[in-house]
Amino acid sequence: MTDQPIDALTEEQAANEAADLRPQLLKWGQQYYDADAPAVEDDVYDRVYARLVALETAFPAIVTPDSPTQRVGGSTRGDLPKVTHDIPMLSLGDVFSIDELKEFDERLRSNVEDDFDYNCELKIDGLAISLRYENGEFVQGSTRGNGQIGEDITANLKTIKSIPQTLSRPLTIDVRGECYMPKAAFLALNERREAAGKAPFANPRNAAAGSLRQLDTQVTADRQLATFMYNIADYGPLNTRTQSGLLDELAELGFTTNATYQVAHNMDDVAAYIDQYQAQRSDLPYGIDGIVIKANSLPLQRSIGATVKVPRWAIAYKFPPEEVETVVRDIKWTVGRTGIVTPTAVMDPVALAGSTVARASLHNPDYLEAKDIRLGDTVLLHKAGDIIPEISQYITAKRPADAQPYPVPTHCPSCGAELVHLDEEVALRCINPRCPAQLAEGMNHFASRNAMNIAGLGPQIVSQLFDRKLVDDVASLYRLTTDQLLTLDKFGEKSAQNLLTAIDNSRNNSLERLLFGLGIRHVGAKAARSIAAEFGDIDHLMAADSEQISAIDTVGEIIADSVVTYFASDQVQQLIAELREVGVNLTFTGAVPASDGEGQFAGQRVVLTGKLQELTRPEATEWLEQHGATVTGSVSKKTDLLIAGEAAGSKLTKAQSLNVPIWNEAQLQAAMDETK
Ligand code: NAD
Repeated sequence: MTDQPIDALTEEQAANEAADLRPQLLKWGQQYYDADAPAVEDDVYDRVYARLVALETAFPAIVTPDSPTQRVGGSTRGDLPKVTHDIPMLSLGDVFSIDELKEFDERLRSNVEDDFDYNCELKIDGLAISLRYENGEFVQGSTRGNGQIGEDITANLKTIKSIPQTLSRPLTIDVRGECYMPKAAFLALNERREAAGKAPFANPRNAAAGSLRQLDTQVTADRQLATFMYNIADYGPLNTRTQSGLLDELAELGFTTNATYQVAHNMDDVAAYIDQYQAQRSDLPYGIDGIVIKANSLPLQRSIGATVKVPRWAIAYKFPPEEVETVVRDIKWTVGRTGIVTPTAVMDPVALAGSTVARASLHNPDYLEAKDIRLGDTVLLHKAGDIIPEISQYITAKRPADAQPYPVPTHCPSCGAELVHLDEEVALRCINPRCPAQLAEGMNHFASRNAMNIAGLGPQIVSQLFDRKLVDDVASLYRLTTDQLLTLDKFGEKSAQNLLTAIDNSRNNSLERLLFGLGIRHVGAKAARSIAAEFGDIDHLMAADSEQISAIDTVGEIIADSVVTYFASDQVQQLIAELREVGVNLTFTGAVPASDGEGQFAGQRVVLTGKLQELTRPEATEWLEQHGATVTGSVSKKTDLLIAGEAAGSKLTKAQSLNVPIWNEAQLQAAMDETK
């Protein structure tokens, strides 16, 4: 892209430049829309796109029918059925400054005789969907695709709670809106993906699109997607004739709409709306990338009409990217429980979008290499999807002359074993089963709430136990003595006794807790429970083959194979023998009763925030308290867990900045189900 002023170009020069830009934009578009994996930041795409628009506007004769400015971006996946949109699903024109917004307003007003209002809405960072209802029943849902033809994703959309199956009136309508992934769900998903050695999603928009545009409804159901509906293909069947009224009427019909909309009489009102939501952006539980203004009268919208790509009665104002500069001081490689070795950039702390940031994950060696981050680099930092600190790029002019490409380690930073890439994973792994970092992480997991629930055995104590060679695997925990614990930092008789009692109590846990706690690849708490309930004790399980295990309803082949491989190992068999010897229960005893402050949440300070859908606050509080939690009103460093419902605000942000674990309502429900 050149930065030559457009009025200094000849038509031929403009045509040549446009011809260079189009394939680049089409390629980026393909990666973004079709593969759900953008190659560049949105603002990079936006700048090039804006240049192409400017060239084509100045020289209309150079426009080609296949220009990205003439087509709605996106296509359809070959393996998903197609849906034709009778009324096309369009994109939106966009502007990047208040001045450009004013120009849009003046242009529109000069073509419309009467005065009119706008409706201001948040621009939700998700993907557009269309929902068809016949006589009030949900019959088909689709993606935007190329605007004319989308993908049929009805089965996937049926798993999303905010989409009503039946409307409050028997209307036949096509309702349009945005499907998105809440920030908390996005964070949890990327954590799970990284733990499984997979590349994380770049942002919640791509995560939402990837979750909808695939064939397994269970995957969609697990991804906790949500929707805000904001449009209708034909407003005829509605009572209202305004955009703001449409949002109210959609809500009455049973849809979830975004309540933050505001009617604006002039550009000052619009500017105030922009200011308000730009300031609140980081507190919202979902990502937004700007605001949209729409002529509020629906008949006026219809009479103004659209181009081939965008409505003429609406425009998106895109927020400027919030970026700050800082310096990379170190790259730390940490070994997780499953052996994945992850690089993290450690930077000079900076304030960014509502929190202080000093670390950003560099995910895996491929990512580090692609970004080419070096020690001493000054980098631009932003929050991907409004939430995850991410390095956009280093600043070439500020790179120290002697900066060297960062060498990817070949050996484990903890045990020195050679690192490998398994099954073409992007992640780098240490596969030494005796790696101390993995053993320590494994023990943290073993002691965690949903596993053996050993209160008081946290990461700091675990790391001391390993450093002082008091333990070498989870079975050795059960041989610890008071005298040994007294050698730990700040440990007195009482704390030693409490920890020993907690360890001792865990001997009686039902088998599913142990199975989950062993950290067998792919075996989550739910699968562990189904397997334990089916086989009754560990001997029957260890004698089972993959077919017998995968015969369990909720257990697939991958899990079954992983369990069989795990128990086939000599080291594992030895560990189980040791666990038996130290008196750990190896049978399924059913639900674990929780009472007397000894429940799943014993000693935990839990905060509830946002709107819960299935439970009332008092119900959730009562259940948490019955299971040992102290439920408090505000988030602090002492908070152990935040449970965030819909529209959670500042408590969620604070919890994120303090690294407090965050659950959504579904996770709370899962914990409740587990104890039933
Ligand atoms: P868009 O996403 O900028 O705007 C149109 C979309 O906004 C609509 O289709 C709808 O899904 C959504 N939307 C959200 N809230 C809305 C509301 N309240 N009312 C109406 N619509 C609302 O346009 P697009 O054509 O889908 O995508 C273009 C944008 O995608 C670019 O501006 C760029 O930021 C991004 N992109 C990035 C890359 C990349 O490589 N990073 C590539 C292609 C596109």
